[in-house]
Amino acid sequence: MSKSSETLVIIGSGPAGWSAATYAARAQLRPLVFEGAITEENRMSGTLPLGQLALTSEVENYAGFPHGNLSEFLSSALPENRRSMMAPHAGEGVTGPELMELMRQQAINFGTRIVTDDILKVDFSKRPFTLYTRSKDTVEAQCVIVATGASANWLGLPSEEAYKNRGVSACAVCDGALPRFRNKPMVVIGGGDSAVEEATYLTKFASMVHLIHRRDSLRASKIMAQRAQNEPKITIHFHSALEEVLGNDALGVTGVKLQSTIDPSRVSILDAAGVFLAIGHTPNTAFLDGQLDLTAKKYIVWKKHFRTDTSVDGVFAAGDVADDYYRQAISAAGTGCMSALDAERWLSHAGIHA
Ligand code: NAP
Repeated sequence: MSKSSETLVIIGSGPAGWSAATYAARAQLRPLVFEGAITEENRMSGTLPLGQLALTSEVENYAGFPHGNLSEFLSSALPENRRSMMAPHAGEGVTGPELMELMRQQAINFGTRIVTDDILKVDFSKRPFTLYTRSKDTVEAQCVIVATGASANWLGLPSEEAYKNRGVSACAVCDGALPRFRNKPMVVIGGGDSAVEEATYLTKFASMVHLIHRRDSLRASKIMAQRAQNEPKITIHFHSALEEVLGNDALGVTGVKLQSTIDPSRVSILDAAGVFLAIGHTPNTAFLDGQLDLTAKKYIVWKKHFRTDTSVDGVFAAGDVADDYYRQAISAAGTGCMSALDAERWLSHAGIHA
């Protein structure tokens, strides 16, 4: 058990956290990042260090990383003990885990310090704020940036877990264009705007998209629902639930077993190379225990227009933990930058940082 005192603590290690850390470190704030603990519990809940991007493969839409062979760059940018996630490169561009390692390294290069642990509890009632770690250490902080992200919801089926990254995904924009899905049937689970958006996006690559929804009507907005209904490549299966993802070691996902939500004895099989879950995200805000204002869906509320200020003076929020709309790596990195600038100005105004 130890106790330390910090100027700026950043909680979270996705694009928002590392971008905030790089900006804060360059402003000589010596930020301390809690990147999360490596535990089985975090693995199951999708909250391991490096966030949601660490769960994806190729990243084709992060500005600055075009298609190309990055092997030499990655080897020179990252220390050897952080290269285990590097895919053999043959001109395919950067992967999610590599991008996150590069962001982490960039933050370290300017003096960011990292603790591989979770913050399980906070006390924002007085300054300095107090943060409590999983390892039972206590950290005092003058200023905090919360960048803990959101975790995609999963159904929790064993077969879903078994085929993650081999055809099962929760992000069509991240994974939909992969060669394994080209001109193959795909399945999307869910009935909200995300499900419709993912299904529509996947029509660019798939031979057809089956949208599987448990009820008799889509939750998605009318215009989005209409778009899905008018899209010849999308077939909507109402009153249907995913019972099992089918596949094998060689090919990954090969199909799905569906069950009727009206008559459970009715089971059907569809061929599919991919299964995309779009059943909502849960922001990682439970550890805040109600100390910051949250939306009805538990996302942190930004209190000022186009600023990252939260309801507690000196606490800022960045990335998906405060964004249920864009949810892209690049927008998270952008708000991470904003939060560091907001924090720097706040610390300067408070006379804590020159
Ligand atoms: P959402 O609106 O909460 O929809 C989640 C969908 O998943 C619902 O249809 C729900 O079914 C289904 N679902 C949840 N748990 C399930 C389970 N265990 N098994 C099967 N189905 C399950 O989430 P979202 O679609 O991610 O949207 C989140 C927010 O972002 C919304 O406010 C949305 O409008 C917004 N958004 C907007 C856009 C856009 O405007 N372009 C795009 C994406 C998202 P039920 O309907 O039966 O509850």
